[in-house]
Amino acid sequence: MGAFNLTPTVQVFPCPHCGETINTSLQECSFCHSPIDHTAAKAAAAETNRISSACSDASYLKIMLALLIPFGLLIFVPLLNLIGLVGFVFLKYAVPVMTIRWWIKYRSITTADPDFHSARGTVIFVSAITLLVVCFLRVSLFGLSVRV
Ligand SMILES: [Zn+2]
Repeated sequence: MGAFNLTPTVQVFPCPHCGETINTSLQECSFCHSPIDHTAAKAAAAETNRISSACSDASYLKIMLALLIPFGLLIFVPLLNLIGLVGFVFLKYAVPVMTIRWWIKYRSITTADPDFHSARGTVIFVSAITLLVVCFLRVSLFGLSVRV
């Protein structure tokens, strides 16, 4: 119960009439002056938030997938191989879990938002690579665990 709760959260959403981004505290759109239905505005703002978290989760997934490479390489570096192995094994499980979670959470979004469409493209790519990594690396990790 800190000071953060004192700040009212003003959420943004696209105006249903003109499509400009406006906030839920307005009585009318500041661009086209259409009156704002607050119930619909709240729902639209919630959907806008969901779309933006879908986009940020997608870029987070891409970073996690990309980190598999440096961690994977560290496994072969003397003294750093334990860090590499821990990071690699963590990501090897975290990326598929996060990818599945993404599909469950955001699968139902229907929007023309180009950011969301490129985010979904990213997740399709991550899903495909993850599937390959999970299938292919089971064998080599088993090999590593014998060696380490
Ligand atoms: Zn408007």
